[in-house]
Amino acid sequence: MDSFLLIFLIVIAYVALLLILKHLGFGEKKVCKNCSNCCPDCQKAMERIKRKRRDYLLNHCTFHIFDFKRYRCMECGWEGLRWEKQLRPGKS
Ligand SMILES: [Zn+2]
Repeated sequence: MDSFLLIFLIVIAYVALLLILKHLGFGEKKVCKNCSNCCPDCQKAMERIKRKRRDYLLNHCTFHIFDFKRYRCMECGWEGLRWEKQLRPGKS
């Protein structure tokens, strides 16, 4: 029973941490004057690329709180995951 409670508390703490990170804008798309999604290194536009298997896994592990998408910089080749704020709540 104690170990169940411990796991429960860890899960709660984990979800709380994810929500805090989201609130702080961790890994959020950057908007600059050039484009709506710019590279963290060179501020140039990034293109959307196909997600990898581990990206789907990460989204599952973060309970789709972020819904990360994979982007690549056309200028310097930076590649990584970014998420954007949803203006409207998701379709039910
Ligand atoms: Zn770049």
